[in-house]
Amino acid sequence: MKKERKIFNRKDGSKFYLIVFIIFFVALIARVLFFSDVQNTNVNPEEQTVKAPIELSFSDVLRRSDDIKTMNISKDNTANGVLKDGTPYKAVIAYNPEMLEKISNSGAVISIDNSASTVDTMYKWFSIFVGGLFLFWLLKMLRGGNGGGITRSLIGQNPTKVTTGKTKTTFKDVAGIDAEKQELMEVVDFLKNREKFKALGARVPRGILLSGEPGTGKTLLARAVAGEANVPFFATSGSDFSGIIVGLGVAKIKEIFELAKRNAPCILFIDEIDAIGQSRSKHSYNDNDREQTLNQLLIEMDGFANETGIIVIAATNRPDMLDAALLRPGRFDRQIHIDLPNMEGRKDILNLHAKKFKIDEKVAMIDVARGTTGFSGADLENLLNEAALHAVRSNHKVVEQSDIEEARDKILMGPKKNRKMRPEDIKLTAYHEAGHAFIGLHYEGITDPIHKATIVPRGHALGMVQHLPIDDKVSMTLEEIRANLSVYLAGRVSEEIFFGNKKITTGAENDIKMATRLVRYSVTTAGLSDKIGLVSVNQANTFGQRIALENASEKTAQAVDEEIRSWMDSAYKDAKNLIMKNKNTVEKIAKALLDKETLTGDEIKEIVFGKKASKKTVAKKPTKKANAKK
Ligand code: ADP
Ligand code: ZN
Repeated sequence: MKKERKIFNRKDGSKFYLIVFIIFFVALIARVLFFSDVQNTNVNPEEQTVKAPIELSFSDVLRRSDDIKTMNISKDNTANGVLKDGTPYKAVIAYNPEMLEKISNSGAVISIDNSASTVDTMYKWFSIFVGGLFLFWLLKMLRGGNGGGITRSLIGQNPTKVTTGKTKTTFKDVAGIDAEKQELMEVVDFLKNREKFKALGARVPRGILLSGEPGTGKTLLARAVAGEANVPFFATSGSDFSGIIVGLGVAKIKEIFELAKRNAPCILFIDEIDAIGQSRSKHSYNDNDREQTLNQLLIEMDGFANETGIIVIAATNRPDMLDAALLRPGRFDRQIHIDLPNMEGRKDILNLHAKKFKIDEKVAMIDVARGTTGFSGADLENLLNEAALHAVRSNHKVVEQSDIEEARDKILMGPKKNRKMRPEDIKLTAYHEAGHAFIGLHYEGITDPIHKATIVPRGHALGMVQHLPIDDKVSMTLEEIRANLSVYLAGRVSEEIFFGNKKITTGAENDIKMATRLVRYSVTTAGLSDKIGLVSVNQANTFGQRIALENASEKTAQAVDEEIRSWMDSAYKDAKNLIMKNKNTVEKIAKALLDKETLTGDEIKEIVFGKKASKKTVAKKPTKKANAKK
């Protein structure tokens, strides 16, 4: 993302530091070369090694000053040397001239190790100097930060803050969001043919707000606009403008707009604009500073004439949080929302990124797209990357379907668990999943086709049955909801039928949760229940979540509870009925799962309907896959 060169737009600051550093370094080398063995001057090494030194206290030293022959005092106020009788000693002393005089008067040779202090002093000076410099800078900042040299260079040097340069990214690198690209074409056009626009007096937006979830390609799109128009791209982030130092944000805004003006025409990209542009009533801390920063941004945006050719593109995933002032004409008056890609879009994005990897020709990206509902562009790129890593680990020559599958499951559900499970738990899981799979297959056509069933634990799940949609869904039919409820509850039903109702487990927790959500949504929000009727008795915005029934009487609330229970009960009965009638088939699926751990949708079909129903060519010998008992 931040491939471009980081700018250090004023060199003087860094040069200065370089000089200081060199001086310091030379001093350090000098110390090592010339003073390194001062410690031992005047002390005969032999004397030191003969006996272990005795320890003298400070008063000992004073009392026995006449006995001392040599004394070497080092900077940490320890002294060592030998007594007149040859005994080495060491002592901790207080460094005072009188004492030294007294000892030297008695004929002792005193040496003072002050080599370190040369460096020390320099170090001290250096620290004081740097400290002073920092203070100076701080003061400048506090005064509003519009001062010269040092202030600016220090801001400019903050290495993550502004990335810039000509970008090679173009619209070719953006897939799956054609409508958004189209809207931005106009901006590219303007940057390329400013004269034409000027002649006609056409007003071009100065600011464009891209909104959308993280990873939907906002930065990419902004960069592509710059690339298409062949103008410089400056990127910064709103969060960089709020800091501990008051006034820094204002200074930085000024700095970056100045930079943009000097390089116009250009694109100035501000990521996470909500960090500074949050609605003034909504934020709670650091108010004043942020407000000043926001004001400065508004001033700058109002300040440059359209002809300069600076287009500010801002990105946020919370457009609703933005201060209205930001969205006024002449500021970010053009809003483009980027949705998560639909199935077709996901396929295009996958195909685009697939060029970077060696992917097996057999992999159909549309199938990968089917299984990645809710993935952003960045997620899809990450998926392929994970798949490639998995391929490497598994010694595959190309990225295979199984690698992509594994990567997706890992992203969605967490990595495979190497949990040791008790055999009876594994068995129960197999029957549980077989229940889901059977009912899922029974309703196939109404519900999404089964992709696979597995008893390999992953994340919190002990196993799973995965369905893949054929198309993007915008709504569900009542029939579909009812069928899905049966599929959800079939796991628990199967446990009960095969193991008895004393052995049922908590493993159905998530199934029950999902089913309840779906019913609640259908009954209270979607108007699908005859009993409750066409009323919305819930706050509809959060999908199926239980929020106090706001606009419902106590009676309605009770009716809702009863209706939810009734839908769940009938789904449970439906699943139970079907599995009871097909116990053998379900058992076959469970056994195949125990045998192979994972079954594809086709394999399950073969078990249930026999081989002729399967799409595979009729083979005399059963294929390995078709043969459940290997
Ligand atoms: P955002 O700024 O919206 O958080 P980014 O632009 O940083 O998202 O997207 C991150 C990465 O995801 C991009 O660099 C690109 O590789 C990939 N990506 C996202 N959306 C798309 C897309 N529509 N087409 C191609 N790649 C995409
Ligand atoms: Zn289940």
